[in-house]
Amino acid sequence: MFGHIKSELSIRQVVERYGVKLNHNKALCPFHQEKNKSFSISDRKQLYKCHTCNDKAGDLISFVSKMFALKPIDACKKLNEDFSLGLGGKLTREQKIKTARRKAIMSKRKLEDEAKKEKYFNAYSVFGEYDKICINNKPKRYEEPNNLWIFANGQREYWWDKIMSLELI
Ligand SMILES: [Zn+2]
Repeated sequence: MFGHIKSELSIRQVVERYGVKLNHNKALCPFHQEKNKSFSISDRKQLYKCHTCNDKAGDLISFVSKMFALKPIDACKKLNEDFSLGLGGKLTREQKIKTARRKAIMSKRKLEDEAKKEKYFNAYSVFGEYDKICINNKPKRYEEPNNLWIFANGQREYWWDKIMSLELI
């Protein structure tokens, strides 16, 4: 239900619906008396924040929870009713499609992350092997490096670049 509500509504819609008068992204805070606007919303993050109340930034559900002193689940029910979302009961065809699409995107992202992690660990273990060879064949002072060291060192650098390009560290 939480996900549904958040995909159906925007923070802007919600705060305005409950009386916050936004001027661009700023407004007088509904949670305390003030003359300067310290309440703001972010469309990009879908969060609100009041710099005077200084609470953690909240989403549209926590806004309604705070505004009406409701538990998050009851805040969702209120939003569902006030915006006639028709959630909780039967979903409309459009809502079902939206949900399915969101789930597909999420699982695709998860798979991509897993694949990336696996590549990273593979690269790291190959790097480790060559690193060991380099350490074991390290040329002493005044000594020319041997071929094995030169080869392993090249590989070590190659795999290190690969690890860095995976940007997991
Ligand atoms: Zn405030």
